[in-house]
Amino acid sequence: MKFLRSLWEPLVNFVFPPLCRVCEERLSEEGICEVCWEDILKNLLLEPKTFYGFRVYSLFRYGGKVREAIEQMKYGGIRAIAEVFAPSLAELLKEESPDVVVPLPLHPARVRERGFSQTVLLAKLMGRELSVPVKKVIFRRRYTRPQALLSADERSKNVAGAFSCLYRLSGERVVLVDDVITTGNTFYHAASALLSAGAGEVIGATIARGA
Ligand SMILES: [Zn+2]
Repeated sequence: MKFLRSLWEPLVNFVFPPLCRVCEERLSEEGICEVCWEDILKNLLLEPKTFYGFRVYSLFRYGGKVREAIEQMKYGGIRAIAEVFAPSLAELLKEESPDVVVPLPLHPARVRERGFSQTVLLAKLMGRELSVPVKKVIFRRRYTRPQALLSADERSKNVAGAFSCLYRLSGERVVLVDDVITTGNTFYHAASALLSAGAGEVIGATIARGA
C-alpha cells in the first residue's frame, strides 16, 4: 500500500496541487501558507472577554485573513480549517474543566444550503480534544434573520426567545461553541436558554471575536 501511495501522491499533487486553505496559493503540502499564517497570528487574542456576564474565549480578532479563513469554513465547506483551529481553542478551555460541549445551532435551512454545520463540526473536534461529550442540547424555535443585516436594537429583538433546550441539564459546566461572536446577543440568548434548562455555568468558545 505504501508503495502504491508513493506512486499515487505525486500524480494527485500534479492534477490537484495542494493549495493554501485561505488564499488558494499553490503550496508544496496541504495547509495554510506563511503569508496567511502571519496575518492570522497578528490577530491572536487568547484572553477571555465578558459578554452579558458570560466569559467567552476567542482565538483571534475577526478581520483580514481570519475572516477569510472563517468564510472558507462556512461557505466553502472546508473542514480542514476547523481542524486547524479546534485544538487550540480547546486548549484555551481546558482550565475551565468543562463537562460538556454544546454547539450553538444554525438555522436548519442554512445547514441544508451548506451541507454541514460548522458549529457542530467545531464542537465535535473540541469535545474530542477535551475528552468530554458533545450534546446538541439547544434548538432554534423559530427563524431568525441574519444578524449582520440588522441594527443593534433589531438584533436583540431578532434573537430574544429564539432558543430552547431539548432536555434538562443538571449543573454541568457547559462550553457553548460558535464560530464568531460580535455583539454577543445571539450568544447571550442561547446561554440563557442553557441556564434555564439547568446548566451550572456557561462559558463561550469562538474562533474569532468581532468586538
Ligand atoms: Zn494563504
